[in-house]
Amino acid sequence: MPRAASPIAIKIRPRTGVPDLLRRAVFLDRDGVLNRAVVRDGKPYPPTDLKSFEILPEVGPALAALKSAGFLLIVATNQPDVARGVQTLSTVESMHDILRQSLPLDGICACYEEDGPDCTCYKPKPGLLLDAASKLNVNLRASYMVGDRWRDVGAGVAAGCTTIFIDRHYAEDLRDTPDISCGNLAEAAAAILKDMKAPIRGAPRIPRKT
Ligand SMILES: [Mg+2]
Ligand SMILES: [Zn+2]
Repeated sequence: MPRAASPIAIKIRPRTGVPDLLRRAVFLDRDGVLNRAVVRDGKPYPPTDLKSFEILPEVGPALAALKSAGFLLIVATNQPDVARGVQTLSTVESMHDILRQSLPLDGICACYEEDGPDCTCYKPKPGLLLDAASKLNVNLRASYMVGDRWRDVGAGVAAGCTTIFIDRHYAEDLRDTPDISCGNLAEAAAAILKDMKAPIRGAPRIPRKT
């Protein structure tokens, strides 16, 4: 058994002064989105040690662009290897320290459990997103979930976000249809910046005066 850890680890930076009701977030999966995933037999896995933890080159500029457009940037990641006992919590947290030091993130939310009935946050469950949204007053309907697996798309759909699938051509199928598909985080950021100018999905229409 791994050492006891809080099932949900949330570290959120202090508020930035943006009016609460207007807050939008981009929720970001970790492996295969921010850092390079290890791909074996067509399936992605997290890097096992700090030496192989590599932030992808397009990520810094993409997040800077989203940040300056006013988005909160919140990582939402499943890390079940901690519960399985094949990865230590401290190694995963060291990886998250690197992310915090290198990228303009507002929070990192992780599920360290395995999928099961007692966990409300293992994606595709929306717990990580719902928790961060309530803590930071995020409007989920005006927010985005970006990920490279069906679980990320599923969590985004369940939370009411616009979903963006980064297609790495893994040997697995999607279970929900993402709103947008693209090849990497640079393309995802460009798609978000374009989409955010359109009316918010699900927002009531303002009746037109005749
Ligand atoms: Mg991933
Ligand atoms: Zn969980």
